[in-house]
Amino acid sequence: MESMKERFVRYTSINTRSDEASQTIPSTKRQTEFAKILVADLKEIGLSDVALHDNGYVIGHLPANTDQDVPAIGFIAHMDTADYNSEGIKPRIIENYDGKDIVLNQSLNIVSRLADFPNLKNYKGKTLVVTDGTTLLGGDDKAGIVEIMEAMKILLANPSIKHGTIYVGFGPDEEIGRGADHFDVKAFPVAYAYTVDGDKLGGLEYETFNAAAANVTLKGISVHPGSAKNTMVNCNKVAMEFDRMLPQCAVPECTENYEGFIMLLKSDTAVDHGQMSYIIRDHDRSKFEVKKDLFKLAEKVINERYGMEAIKVDLKDSYYNMYDIIKDHMDCVDHAKKAMEKAGITPDVQPVRGGTDGSKISFMGIPTPNLFTGVENLHGRHEFACLEDMEASVKTIVNIANCAL
Ligand SMILES: [Zn+2]
Repeated sequence: MESMKERFVRYTSINTRSDEASQTIPSTKRQTEFAKILVADLKEIGLSDVALHDNGYVIGHLPANTDQDVPAIGFIAHMDTADYNSEGIKPRIIENYDGKDIVLNQSLNIVSRLADFPNLKNYKGKTLVVTDGTTLLGGDDKAGIVEIMEAMKILLANPSIKHGTIYVGFGPDEEIGRGADHFDVKAFPVAYAYTVDGDKLGGLEYETFNAAAANVTLKGISVHPGSAKNTMVNCNKVAMEFDRMLPQCAVPECTENYEGFIMLLKSDTAVDHGQMSYIIRDHDRSKFEVKKDLFKLAEKVINERYGMEAIKVDLKDSYYNMYDIIKDHMDCVDHAKKAMEKAGITPDVQPVRGGTDGSKISFMGIPTPNLFTGVENLHGRHEFACLEDMEASVKTIVNIANCAL
């Protein structure tokens, strides 16, 4: 039978990049092709009712093997990879890593240097899977997929490990923040679930940002500059004026931990029109609301100043901090901690400065914290996976499933 390492190399070699610009579900056909492979592989492993659903999710389950009244739980990972070259991924295995710079590509002189990635020194002596320097690896989140599958294989081969019903879900389009919008809770009837989509060993996450997007439309008045006095409204200047009314220190480059931010993503202005897009992030819901209110206040002040609708702000919430749901279900977090400790892993709880699929799924009624995968340097050519840490993830999943834990 195929080992986890072999399966990981096989899956990461497949291009499953999602596409922000696409309107289809999933956003790319190649994800559907990969989903079909996963359906066949989950059936081969022995899961029940494995199917590819219209929302792009592959779902199957492992029936309970105990009469004990234990809740059904789920494990979720995503099929797509980040917005980075994923054409011709060639995963390479480094056994017994020597702890030095890793030459990813000799001819192109692409090297993962310890000076740039000091985290590499933690992996001396371990087995790494790296790229050839021209693509990402896609361990985010193919590691999550193979770890869940490996854990299901172990549970099926060891009936002495007692468990309730376990649902498995592999979804599309996480990287473009869309896949979970179409998650079908009725097809995934569990008390709680875990996304297996974190990074380094021990990671356990149950706090995310609250997130919104702000689109700002500017309208000005363009006249000949020689006769513009008291007439011209220059959107190039109005845009700067508007931005200066927002908190200047609450930006990504000046914030960390639980500090929220406002980020100007794009600004495209001319004299008589313009468009700016921002993202707004905060773990704290009330501070998040205040940040959104500041946009509306700046809009009001500017429009009053110019006596016209020079600025129009459209705010749209993207996702919310899963902790607002999970705080009433901390048993699923405690259970994961216990499962890690039993596997000899020290849980490393950190707030996510971003969102996960679990942010949305938690608000749909299934509390869904996030577990580590054993992959680091995500979303680029320096991404690597550590096989021993992937095995630790498998142990964690098996322990979580084990109702006798
Ligand atoms: Zn991911």
